Amino acid sequence: MKETGPSIELVGVSKSYREGERTHDVLIDASATIQSGERVAILGPSGSGKSTLLNLVSGIDQPDAGRVIVGGIDIGGLSERDRTLFRRERIGFVFQFFNLLPTLTALENLMLPLELTEQANGADAESRAQTLLEAVALGDRAATFPDRLSGGEQQRVAIARALVHRPDLLLADEPTGNLDQDTGELVIDLLDELVSAAGTTLLVVTHARSLAEQMDRILRVDHGRLVEV
Ligand code: ADP
Ligand code: MG
Repeated sequence: MKETGPSIELVGVSKSYREGERTHDVLIDASATIQSGERVAILGPSGSGKSTLLNLVSGIDQPDAGRVIVGGIDIGGLSERDRTLFRRERIGFVFQFFNLLPTLTALENLMLPLELTEQANGADAESRAQTLLEAVALGDRAATFPDRLSGGEQQRVAIARALVHRPDLLLADEPTGNLDQDTGELVIDLLDELVSAAGTTLLVVTHARSLAEQMDRILRVDHGRLVEV
């Protein structure tokens, strides 16, 4: 079982980007508390700051003001190296364009996070990876390279890869954005089933309202602020 209590606390988070002479305020005093194990959809128009928000939560990017606390750790207080380790061990990522490594088989793509986090190596990593491939109904495609898989299959491998090291938090940025509607629904159902079973906190950016409504909560990025829908 995962610990209870907040998984993510955003406290007065602001983030701007400079565009030449101008500054573009992307997030302005954004605050939210997300409990451990909650499944939260993030909505908002293109360019509203959804990916920026995920990058702040994972520590890939730093806020200009405010605090980002993940699993009780103020990630602004970590060194670059500790932030990288924290991200690698505690967070899983799913992207719109799958981002599988093309030179590795499906199984090898899944073994990589286990080896990087030193959770398992060799035969142990292989058997854990195989179990998770079976959980996404791709047990028979272990030796297949990503370019031989359909988009939906690649995304299922990517979901398995994002969860194989048992992260506390899964960040998914428009995971169905490159899939047709039926495949997208299947992929979300699978994601939902796996995070629910493991008690993983989920933040999923999506434009698909029906998928968002399947989550526990919906937050919208609205003119730089996070509002409950
Ligand atoms: P969304 O994911 O909601 O489409 P993003 O978070 O990617 O939006 O981007 C929000 C705004 O911030 C956009 O106007 C984008 O151009 C700008 N932006 C994002 N990242 C950077 C960056 N590294 N440098 C400059 N501007 C950026
Ligand atoms: Mg985005």
